[in-house]
Amino acid sequence: MDTRTITVIGAGMAGSEAAWQAAQRGAKVRLIEMRPVKMTPAHHTDKAAEIVCSNSFKSNHITNASGLLKQEMRRLDSLIVGCADASAVPAGEALAVDRDAFSEAVTAQLQAHPNIEFVRDEATSVPDEGVVIIASGPLTSDALAAKIGELTGRYDLYFYDAVAPIVDAATIDYDKVFKASRWGRSSESGGGGEAALNSASGGDAAYLNCPFEKDEYLAFHAELVKAEKAPVHDFEDIKYFEACLPVEELAARGPKTLAFGPLKPVGLEDPRTGRRPYAVVQLRQENSAATLYNLVGFQTRLKWGEQKRIFRMIPGLENAEFVRFGVMHRNTYIHSPSLLHPTLQMREHSRIHFAGQMVGVEGYLESAAMGLVAGINAARAVSEEAPVVFPEETALGALTQYVSAYEGKTFAPMNACWGLLPPLPERVKDKKEKGRLMAERARAAFDNLLVREHLAATAGV
Ligand SMILES: Cc1cc2nc3c(=O)[nH]c(=O)nc-3n(C[C@H](O)[C@H](O)[C@H](O)COP(=O)(O)OP(=O)(O)OC[C@H]3O[C@@H](n4cnc5c(N)ncnc54)[C@H](O)[C@@H]3O)c2cc1C
Repeated sequence: MDTRTITVIGAGMAGSEAAWQAAQRGAKVRLIEMRPVKMTPAHHTDKAAEIVCSNSFKSNHITNASGLLKQEMRRLDSLIVGCADASAVPAGEALAVDRDAFSEAVTAQLQAHPNIEFVRDEATSVPDEGVVIIASGPLTSDALAAKIGELTGRYDLYFYDAVAPIVDAATIDYDKVFKASRWGRSSESGGGGEAALNSASGGDAAYLNCPFEKDEYLAFHAELVKAEKAPVHDFEDIKYFEACLPVEELAARGPKTLAFGPLKPVGLEDPRTGRRPYAVVQLRQENSAATLYNLVGFQTRLKWGEQKRIFRMIPGLENAEFVRFGVMHRNTYIHSPSLLHPTLQMREHSRIHFAGQMVGVEGYLESAAMGLVAGINAARAVSEEAPVVFPEETALGALTQYVSAYEGKTFAPMNACWGLLPPLPERVKDKKEKGRLMAERARAAFDNLLVREHLAATAGV
């Protein structure tokens, strides 16, 4: 094989987009997809970019981070967003698609492309030479996962994800929460963003604390135990670790289990009342800009609607916006912050790029977005051009920045959200106005990038 040919492994959301972007820039691409030779436990067809669950690509509105991401991808001739637009079904402000029409359109475009060779086979190793994009997704086959483990020096690629929800810091009620570390110690902090909190009014406090009165707590507990859980897929054999039990499982053991466990108030005195609350939910800073907080110990399998309803009963979170809900499901992703540049190239082997959910994003659109970045940079690698780093003010740049430079303790897949972009110089309370200003700033940065990097042109066929 010509070493100038780019090998893309996986024709899901990310691999399809990556192959398209590279091919449109004149590169020759070998796209390897194992279906139908070997199926994953969640896919049912041989189509590229098969949609495995919901048919929604979320908001299309520009004042929403997901809408901005789509807009940026459209401007770069995204195959996935283009086919989604062409197969859209009515869904209000969201972009939802006819799943069959969508995957058929993506497959047809890839198969018809003169620069793409579409191979149906399982990749069981990573090619020793040439430019490569690994986009084999959350259900990567075992043989390839083992090779990726060797390549990245980590063998913990298969996770049973236990992710706690994250809220937008701007939507927390600061009149109700208080800053404090247990017993006044800052050492229990998750690291990363401690400095930002230390400089704030809570002294060396590392956490935001949401204090429950007894009656509030009991009402919260009563809702938690009867809440609806997300269904478990056949291939997801749930094995919980005692230290990582879903919050609803702990709650089911009785009201005291949580109050004496993750919500214990000992060492936490509310400075406004001078006394210890009945129970406390701690929020830990998630990023250095302090725009995101996670709910400590709240890994959960509850349905998303239930999470929103019940976790908003926590004092201080009544109007919280959830930028990521808690999930517990099978996943495969690498520890990108220690392995990748924001160009999605490996730091140790720059010819190898990763894309899709595997880099630590979540969702169809975000996965495709990471394919777009990897595809552009792989094409530039074969033509010996410098790779592109998307500015962090853009939705594409915020995601690549998150995966390559996350500073916290527990790196977990993330959706596009405003909290990943640098905060605006001044706090804007109105959600729509904030979105509008963020989108305006992103557009200016994106316009500059297109000109500087000659990115808009995709006429290499
Ligand atoms: C069960 C499930 C439900 C989900 N539901 C949603 C949802 O409702 N909404 C949402 O936005 N996101 C959802 N996600 C997340 C979403 O699937 C992913 O974010 C997205 O599809 C990932 O894109 P990707 O390109 O990284 O992986 P995929 O789209 O999974 O593509 C990876 C491709 O690589 C192929 N492959 C794997 N191993 C090999 C190999 N060795 N050789 C060759 N090919 C290989 C696979 O067959 C597949 O086609 C869900 C994920 C799962 C697992």
